[in-house]
Amino acid sequence: MLELIDVDKVYPNGYKALSGVNLKVEDGEFISIIGLSGAGKSTLIRCINKMHDIQKGQVLIDGVDISKLKGKALRQQRRNIGMIFQSFNLVRRSSVYKNVLSGRVGYHNTFETIFGIYSKREKLLALQSLDKFGILDKAYVRADQLSGGQQQRVALARALCQEPKILLADEPVASLDPATTIAVMNDFTRINKMGITIIANMHHVDIAKKYSTRIIGVKAGEIVFDGKPEEVDDEACFRIYGRHLSRNDNLSSGLEETKEGD
Ligand code: ADP
Repeated sequence: MLELIDVDKVYPNGYKALSGVNLKVEDGEFISIIGLSGAGKSTLIRCINKMHDIQKGQVLIDGVDISKLKGKALRQQRRNIGMIFQSFNLVRRSSVYKNVLSGRVGYHNTFETIFGIYSKREKLLALQSLDKFGILDKAYVRADQLSGGQQQRVALARALCQEPKILLADEPVASLDPATTIAVMNDFTRINKMGITIIANMHHVDIAKKYSTRIIGVKAGEIVFDGKPEEVDDEACFRIYGRHLSRNDNLSSGLEETKEGD
């Protein structure tokens, strides 16, 4: 359902961040993308929903090349793709409910969005999404009054309210403490079990291995590993990170210190 064919991404300054990327993703997969900082994980995620233009190749979603779409056709295709950010990207001064309802903007014109004209079904969907993540009681609280973990749950509820087929996540737990990380990763698993494909950049290898069904390793803009979590062994880590992982790397992150090119 999602296929990247021979994708190159070159930034305006001439830096080639992705080179000849080929990737086929089936419905219902939970993919973690791992690699050093600067390897191109974020760029890869952003090319899938056309937040970034690509210079070569195709990004096919159900056979439609999103990289070639513009205007209304692009907006319609983007309904199928939710996005979760490390920094949550909530409207901090708005209520949790309004934030979640904003997951529906792709289905409305500007007039309806500005005046908050949503259907009964959509309003119910927003409340149900909050309920699924156990934060229905926070519906009328301002988003900036919530903890980091709760804010990430609001972002997940907003994504669910969008009714996407694919959910992209850019380091979704990087700014959360270990206990909250587990809770949020369990929420991702629940979303995945609802039939939504998940593609997430993960900083920690152990979390990637624990929660995903498939791991993609990126190094210097190329896919250097593609396999099952249990296949991420010492040799694979060497290919992805350029060195073997020590036991401590699993929890803390010695990897944070190492950047692509160091
Ligand atoms: P990762 O997510 O793996 O940390 P990124 O995808 O953010 O890596 O970045 C990949 C490479 O592209 C890095 O070397 C980064 O410096 C470079 N890069 C990212 N954004 C830009 C940009 N807007 N202009 C130029 N280079 C960029």
